[in-house]
Amino acid sequence: MTPGRAPGRPDSAPEPDPTADQATKDAMSNATTVSPAHSASTASTLITNIASLVTNDSSLGDRSPLGLVHDAAVAIEGDRVVWTGDQSKAPATDNRVDAGGRAVIPGFVDSHSHLVFAGDRTQEFNARMSGRPYSAGGIRTTVAATRAASDAELAANVTRYLREALHQGTTTFETKSGYGLTVEDEARALRVAAAHTDEVTYLGAHIVAPEFAEDPAGYVALVTGEMLDACAPYARWIDVFCEKGAFDGDQARAILSAGKAKGLHPRIHANQLSYGPGVQLAVELDAASADHCTHLTDADVDALASGDTVATLLPGAEFSTRAEWPDARRLLDAGVTVALSTDCNPGSSFTSSVPFCVALAVRDMGMTPDEALWSATAGGAAALRRTDIGRVTPGAYADLTLLDAPSHVHLAYRPGVPLVTGVWRRGERVL
Ligand SMILES: [Zn+2]
Repeated sequence: MTPGRAPGRPDSAPEPDPTADQATKDAMSNATTVSPAHSASTASTLITNIASLVTNDSSLGDRSPLGLVHDAAVAIEGDRVVWTGDQSKAPATDNRVDAGGRAVIPGFVDSHSHLVFAGDRTQEFNARMSGRPYSAGGIRTTVAATRAASDAELAANVTRYLREALHQGTTTFETKSGYGLTVEDEARALRVAAAHTDEVTYLGAHIVAPEFAEDPAGYVALVTGEMLDACAPYARWIDVFCEKGAFDGDQARAILSAGKAKGLHPRIHANQLSYGPGVQLAVELDAASADHCTHLTDADVDALASGDTVATLLPGAEFSTRAEWPDARRLLDAGVTVALSTDCNPGSSFTSSVPFCVALAVRDMGMTPDEALWSATAGGAAALRRTDIGRVTPGAYADLTLLDAPSHVHLAYRPGVPLVTGVWRRGERVL
């Protein structure tokens, strides 16, 4: 599928949840389904007096990968950026916004989340922090709660976590099914997700459904057959949890190949809890992303460096399970493209905060503040095979985050501080 093109969202997608915050919903709904002329005013706006602007265009500013421009301005028209550069050379516009000497960065691209669920797993977290190891089986708790929830409850939950994410600077997010594990419940989760984003992932292969505990082959047949048929119309991506206790390499290959045959593009939960075939399978199948990448052999790193598959690191999971950190430095030094995302889910990483993940990546995973910022913006865009987001350059969507700080470095330098003070999405100021 062409990057940025809207997937085949069905006409039967549900009406938005009436209890939702309309501004947040409008802000977070993926506007790629809307023509630019209708998605925002065509009046032009200049954001000026920006102390430091991250463009993610290495031909601009300091010529680093961040393309950092000091004393900068950004011109927006409609839903797009039309000009960036030195504020002394800014074009005339209809409106002006004074950034007050703060930093502007691209809106975060959270390319990995699990937001369609009900209930929480406070007790599991509490027990784990008391020394009990994490296992994939905890997902079944959320499956039971999600199946029991109404459509309105699921939609309200998604809206709530999107509002959190928006307030922390996220302007694009991907989200998945995976807590239904029946044909009806997986399709329902994707319908709920598709009301909020076009980056929807079918994860029927999260774990083997409890009903198929004695017949995993039967569940794979369901996931690649009737469930896929019901889910494919709502999704752009197909995913599988390739891990001991979930799906092995042969099962994962069968599941992703079936999805590809239906027009879905693969991404994989790979090498999170142990070494395994997931990463090399991701590269073999040209998956957009191999997610987690915590336990990697040299051959895994070489495979990632040789292909177009992004390594998406999800440090919220290691934080919340007291697990070994993924080695971002090793991947970056090998030339692998790295993304940083939240993995927001109720079991192993219940954070919607990309800034928190940036701080963890800098503190514990060997990333520089510049690398972490790039990975959480342009890296996330690459993991979604998008070039119209994750950058502040002419032609890109005007998705911008204003920090109450003079530099993006403060995201790691001042961890836990709510620095996001403004957000523009598709050219509209939404925070
Ligand atoms: Zn995940």
